[in-house]
Amino acid sequence: MDQAKCGALIKSLRREKGWTQAELARRIGVTDKAVSKWERALGCPDISLLDALSREFRVDMAALVSGTLNESKKDGGNMNRLKFFLCPVCGSLLTSTGRSDISCCGRQLSPLAPARADEGHTPRVETVEDELYFTFDHPMDKEHYLSFAAWQEYDRVLIQKLYPEQDAAFRLPRMRRGKLFLYCTEHGLMQVNM
Ligand SMILES: [Zn+2]
Ligand SMILES: [Zn+2]
Repeated sequence: MDQAKCGALIKSLRREKGWTQAELARRIGVTDKAVSKWERALGCPDISLLDALSREFRVDMAALVSGTLNESKKDGGNMNRLKFFLCPVCGSLLTSTGRSDISCCGRQLSPLAPARADEGHTPRVETVEDELYFTFDHPMDKEHYLSFAAWQEYDRVLIQKLYPEQDAAFRLPRMRRGKLFLYCTEHGLMQVNM
């Protein structure tokens, strides 16, 4: 552990939280002298304290050890760059427009890479009044089903959740130019050419 980097990171995270050295010390069960020592680069927290520190600060243990946070560049919020992440354990769907580090259930997640939709995942599209009606010839059983669709434009994204046993169909409001994504539990994320 680099004492200077680690100390500087602890100090900046503590200030972000608005805690005094005494407050941080109390939360992790050390003396405020110990915290002051770390922050002056006169020592590093013992390995046994890393877990408590990472929980209090809500940062990775690896970040504490290296003394650097992997911070992203400012995100312009362009929805065209939206990436989808799916937790393999709990099934949570997460999205990001930046280069965020996304983790869930203790795992770091990689963005889903869309493939081009094949025939079995390409919808028929009908216009019904001011909506578009999408239907698919695709199974909707528990082992193999379409679990969400997303319509993406530069300033908005509509996510349509789908469930097994329901029809492989959904409606979206009629839209401008954009992209349609579809997630199949067996075949992964697909981009549908519209
Ligand atoms: Zn999860
Ligand atoms: Zn499929």
